[in-house]
Amino acid sequence: MSGPILIVEDESAIADTIDYALRTEGFTPHRCELGGEALERLRRETFRLVILDVGLSDLSGFEVCRRLRTFSEIPIVFLTARSEEVDRIVGLEIGGDDYVTKPFSPRELVARVRVILRRIERREEPIVPGTLELDEDGHRIRFSGQPLDLTRYEFLLLKILMGSPERVFTRAQLMEQVWAGAEESGDRTVDTHVKTLRAKLRAVNPELDPILTHRGLGYSLTRAR
Ligand code: CA
Repeated sequence: MSGPILIVEDESAIADTIDYALRTEGFTPHRCELGGEALERLRRETFRLVILDVGLSDLSGFEVCRRLRTFSEIPIVFLTARSEEVDRIVGLEIGGDDYVTKPFSPRELVARVRVILRRIERREEPIVPGTLELDEDGHRIRFSGQPLDLTRYEFLLLKILMGSPERVFTRAQLMEQVWAGAEESGDRTVDTHVKTLRAKLRAVNPELDPILTHRGLGYSLTRAR
């Protein structure tokens, strides 16, 4: 995940830490200190997201947001210093997407930025039936856009199959990778979990069966179109 992000913050020490954290994670941060300047740049340039301090010296972050919303739907993460500001963000329809309260951890801020961008990307992508998507952070897998309710071993099993589509994994290989260190053992364990996994996939999309059985060998996953 990458792209230009606008940081609107008049305290340079804070802007520096955000800038650094974003850069480290592959984003391209741009900075400005005033609300008016931010609005001008947001009209002219394309950013993926704005990190907007509420306490700026010309316009308040809320006013910047209000004006910005007249011409742009860009996601906004507010930086706030006071709890009453949080009340306004949360309680009123300011039009922000998220906020962090100072002092905040830059890592947390970047994590929030990622969550918002991922959410937007998902909204923009048409869902292809049969697509399996791994949400590593959320420890979830979606099938045809729907989150699957998987047990720990079902999750690991599917994740490993997804890691190498079309590769045939023997039951022994799957045992080794999924059930490493577990008490359970035996080919039946793999078969039982594949069976319940298939049932859960079928519940989402009855026409598709992405897990293939290779007689005498093991299992593979068909490549999503
Ligand atoms: Ca400030």
